Amino acid sequence: MNALSMPKADLKPQNEHKHLLFWFRRDLRTFDNAGLYAALQTAKKVSCVFVFDREILDLLEDKADKRVDFIWASVQEVKQALIGAGGDLIVLYDYASAAIPKLATQLKVDAVFTNTDYEPQAIVRDANVAAACAKNGIDFQTVKDTVVFEKREVLTQTAGIYSVFTPYKNAWLKRLRDNDLSSRPCENHLNKIAKAPTEFAAMPSLESMGFQPTNLATYVTPGMAGAAKLVEDFIPRMHNYHEARNYPSVKGVSYLSVHNRFGTVSIRQLARIAYAETLRASNEGAQIWLNELVWRDFYFQIMFHSPHAAERCFKPMYDTIKWENSPALFAAWCEARTGYPIIDAAMRQLNQTGYMHNRLRMIVASFLTKDLLVSWQWGEKYFAEKLIDFDLTANNGGWQWAASTGCDAQPYFRIFNPISQSEKFDAAGKFIRRYLPELKNIPDKFIHAPWTLPPLEQTARGCVIGKDYPAPIVDHATQRDKALAMYKVVR
Ligand code: FAD
Repeated sequence: MNALSMPKADLKPQNEHKHLLFWFRRDLRTFDNAGLYAALQTAKKVSCVFVFDREILDLLEDKADKRVDFIWASVQEVKQALIGAGGDLIVLYDYASAAIPKLATQLKVDAVFTNTDYEPQAIVRDANVAAACAKNGIDFQTVKDTVVFEKREVLTQTAGIYSVFTPYKNAWLKRLRDNDLSSRPCENHLNKIAKAPTEFAAMPSLESMGFQPTNLATYVTPGMAGAAKLVEDFIPRMHNYHEARNYPSVKGVSYLSVHNRFGTVSIRQLARIAYAETLRASNEGAQIWLNELVWRDFYFQIMFHSPHAAERCFKPMYDTIKWENSPALFAAWCEARTGYPIIDAAMRQLNQTGYMHNRLRMIVASFLTKDLLVSWQWGEKYFAEKLIDFDLTANNGGWQWAASTGCDAQPYFRIFNPISQSEKFDAAGKFIRRYLPELKNIPDKFIHAPWTLPPLEQTARGCVIGKDYPAPIVDHATQRDKALAMYKVVR
């Protein structure tokens, strides 16, 4: 494949429609959007809608949720772009499963188009919407956009589903053709977007939906503009990704996950850039980064084919593990009070910013499950509440990987030592000190296990363990033995 000379996608209309409704969900962009492009290709006129879905929002306890803030700003950007092109975006605050068929009927459209959502609950919702639309003679069509390859597109030689990453990645790369990564240039046809009826012209405010603006802007620029800036910033750093990506104090990763989550960037665009870089200079950084994008596809197809993993262990034998599930230890983990600096700094990063570096996600997930002996489901749920990039498939995949219960997970006997991980990936304690200023005067040698600093030195440095910073809540060596015994029982 020559990634540098890719033709435009050639999406031929299957049915001619006069008027379509395009439903934006996790694809908040007006360029290279496959579903919107398909709608614009096939219709004379396309109305557009986004629903702040009460089915999801009503469950959020924190009314200062950075994700809602991110979505709101990104939806507003899409609305402005569509108005700029002579159309508009209808924005509703309602229950999507009822609101979409109702709006489709009211607008008298022939069909509703949307991009495919692969999560188990979304599949049920979409089936309900499709059935309700069908009752009124309205077609419902979904289009692949969120991933490069979906469903049964990458299969083993015996037409099975891969559950191991490396052969999946090799098959993914082998299957790749120009058109898989080429742009779906909806931006060239936005003049077909319809204006909104007057009653739908306004966009509900965050406050009218019971939410508040947050400090999101301190950490992230939402929308297509925010994503574009990050892409631009990352491209010159990509060649060094394989070296820098493991060090949380270093700017080594792309920070694009929230944009991948809400589709303010196109996955085809990112994979195209990474793939072109790998060809241009056999660029190891680009190859490893492309791998991460393939991991993303991999977890989507795992969840699609094994929806039981959303609730239970991917490998059912691990459902019988007797987790200790101590509420006190879990609370200390959530509140960054474990006494292990690398864990507490990581949890403060999550609690304050809504983001956590990948290396740290692996370390804290291992610590929760294999040191505190708390079920991965508790950690998964906490991440789901806090991460601005929370994505069911990647989060579940990451947690089950760390807990050794997932597909292609790390073996159960591989247990991260939080002190040696800290020494290796934050040697000078730069990241730790950024989030735990109470440890700022602790010498580098002791920063990973500050309780080993002699008491007089602790006093002299203004940080007495047990008073100014917690003593470790568990002993790693003891807990490691317990974890091994716990996992061995189920084998
Ligand atoms: P980069 O390193 O720049 O990677 C580029 C992109 O590839 C990311 O933006 C992301 O979309 C994708 N990606 C990278 N690593 C993975 C991975 N392991 N699995 C799937 N996709 C990946 N990622 C999420 O997007 N949402 C989550 O809810 C999430 N929860 C996680 C929980 C645990 C316990 C673990 C171990 C990992 C989790 N990840 C999750 C994966 C990974 O940590 C984040 O995608 C990454 O840290 C985001 O930072 P970045 O955008 O700078 O990534």
